[in-house]
Amino acid sequence: MEIRLGPVIMPETLSERPVVIAGPCSAESEEQVLQTAKELSEIGVKIFRAGIWKPRTKPGGFEGVGSKGLSWLKKVKAETGMLVSTEVANREHVFEALKAGIDILWIGARTSVNPFAVQEIADALKGTDVPVLVKNPVNPDIELWIGAIQRLYNAGLRRIGAIHRGFSSYDRKLYRNLPLWHIPIELKRRIPDICIFCDPSHIGGRRELISPLAQQAMDLNMNGLFVESHVRPEEALSDAAQQLTPDALECIIGHLVIRDTNQTTENLVDLRREIDRIDSSILELFAKRMRISGEIGVYKKEHEMPVLQSSRYDEVLKDRIRTGKALDLSDEFISTVFRDIHQESVRLQLSVMNGEAMNGRTMLL
Ligand code: PEP
Ligand code: MN
Repeated sequence: MEIRLGPVIMPETLSERPVVIAGPCSAESEEQVLQTAKELSEIGVKIFRAGIWKPRTKPGGFEGVGSKGLSWLKKVKAETGMLVSTEVANREHVFEALKAGIDILWIGARTSVNPFAVQEIADALKGTDVPVLVKNPVNPDIELWIGAIQRLYNAGLRRIGAIHRGFSSYDRKLYRNLPLWHIPIELKRRIPDICIFCDPSHIGGRRELISPLAQQAMDLNMNGLFVESHVRPEEALSDAAQQLTPDALECIIGHLVIRDTNQTTENLVDLRREIDRIDSSILELFAKRMRISGEIGVYKKEHEMPVLQSSRYDEVLKDRIRTGKALDLSDEFISTVFRDIHQESVRLQLSVMNGEAMNGRTMLL
């Protein structure tokens, strides 16, 4: 089905890059909301975000202030002139948000994964023209993401945007949620009209990662950033490690390199960024390989097998050299790399045999 969309927010704002939507993970108090909004407005942010109904992975965490936060958002609108946005996860949230005049709604990653919930939201929005931003589902399933957008589209909405917030994975990793960039790129290919925002806060999970992620999003031509900002991040009741002060956000935005989107020739900057991305994938794979190697160490220990099994090592090395050759990689390079990898695996398994924890981590995950 073809999806033709209108501008998700004011067309004049959309021509800027990046369009910045910023605000705290959660609205916590009237003072925190208004102070953050005021400072963000002063640095030029025109759209404010704050969660008031918070989906938490486990019960017992801060689950948001609920409906009373809507009046704080109304105050933000009145006092700063910013547009305000919040997350909705069910019919009641939609009705309350619309009644309070919230300008933009977003559907969170734990909701876009659930077609029943998205349909309920779409039904509640029928007959309105409120902009809705759909976060990618927690798992990397583009059809589910498109399906959520289609449900809103079928309800008559045309101001629909998307937010790439990364995808959860079981592996230990650099990012809180893996930025699988090819998925939003494919989304844009399938729905060319769609505006895509990047949420570097939920991808990174840590403040230090927000700047490089925001730059990558700009390099991939995304329209905007959806980013968490709090006047006192370290005191935040949710997602404290990934929130930025408005000042820090201003600095990050000021340093973004926004390149000419019509440029067709790849330049060195592009290629170096690609190398950075590849290196971080290689590092993650190294970590995964070592973890599995450690698990083999536990198995060998339990079955009283020796760490070193020369025939297996010889087989692995020959096979990798052969495969490398087919990929135009030199024998010398592959044997050096795999000798070092093997050496590290042996070191790790020996420490398992001696009962030491693997790099201070528990062995059996
Ligand atoms: C949020 O934006 O605060 C949020 C809960 O994000 P996500 O749905 O991406 O986890
Ligand atoms: Mn958050």
